[in-house]
Amino acid sequence: MSLPLRRDDGTIDVLQGYRVQHSSARGPRKGGIRFHPTVDLDDVRALASLMTWKTSLVDVPFGGAKGGVAVDPASLSLREKEELIRRWTRTLVHVLGPHRDIPAPDMGTDAQTMAWLMDEFHRLEGFQPACVTGKPVELFGAPGREEATGRGVISTTVAALDRAGRDSRSSSLAVQGFGNVGRFASLCAVEAGMSVVAVSDVTGARFNRTGFGHDELAGAGTVQNLHSGVEIDPAGLLELDVDVLVPAALGGVITADNAPRVRAEFLVEAANQPLTAAADSYLSGQGVTIVPDILANAGGVVGSYFEWTQNIQEFRWPISRFRDELDSRLRSAFDDVAATADEHSCSLREASFILAVRRVVDAFMFRGQVV
Ligand code: GLU
Repeated sequence: MSLPLRRDDGTIDVLQGYRVQHSSARGPRKGGIRFHPTVDLDDVRALASLMTWKTSLVDVPFGGAKGGVAVDPASLSLREKEELIRRWTRTLVHVLGPHRDIPAPDMGTDAQTMAWLMDEFHRLEGFQPACVTGKPVELFGAPGREEATGRGVISTTVAALDRAGRDSRSSSLAVQGFGNVGRFASLCAVEAGMSVVAVSDVTGARFNRTGFGHDELAGAGTVQNLHSGVEIDPAGLLELDVDVLVPAALGGVITADNAPRVRAEFLVEAANQPLTAAADSYLSGQGVTIVPDILANAGGVVGSYFEWTQNIQEFRWPISRFRDELDSRLRSAFDDVAATADEHSCSLREASFILAVRRVVDAFMFRGQVV
């Protein structure tokens, strides 16, 4: 889509926007909207397909989709951001809806963006809060959804450590990215007794040998507001001698180039596609346990499913129920993946795809093939 945007200075920019609907075999299409300068059609296509496998793997009744706009979100004023998401929604309204395609936040978008999207959808189609997830708790959002991706990253990390007979409480973590996913993953890791020794974001990187405290992490919106420990080179964070490395920022950050310098034994893909294919095969060959993105960060879409369900039932769950159901769904997805990996002597990534693709195929077969 071409999305005209009236800038605050009166000029008009025409931005490139996207929505790719990859599959509806198992339910309405589901996936986030990303505002980032590197967004293009191939990128959105790849991310939409990951959503199909992700929703299938954690067995929520959705297909896969992804959207985006090629724009630097930091260059947008609040008014511009509102106008842009309203324009995106108006242009696509005929293919969106609670039983067609349900957007959610992704990089560069947040609960406020989803609130504007819902409001625009309501103007055109009437009251249907289940048309989008990741909304503010004050406006049909679900308590627990905001932290859900980070929480899921840590439940799958603990599951991977348990499987290897390791004590998660004596494990150290380095987290790249301090946005919604990295911040809540760091907090949940500390709550689970792990020590978060390094974090980074666009404002810098910090290392604290004894681990950052919960209050310090909770109070710092960005890494530059952390004061304990020492400043380190952001690129060096990926090469620290820690038990668990959690890339929670952009895709493609671990490549054939820097993979040989990764020293962690566990790599948990909190971001989508943080490893290139070459880095993945190198590190798997070195015996690194990689928890793939479609499992590690699936807490977000599981949380979206809980929000959607509550909107449709017009019933609000307490946060304790949200957290318990999230933890148990991710734990059972992890156990299914681990059992499949043992059965086929393959990696957790291959096992995740075996399960996810099989379920989509089964849905196709039962739908019938005669046209
Ligand atoms: N953007 C998130 C993801 O990549 C969440 C998608 C959703 O909740 O629909 O999984």
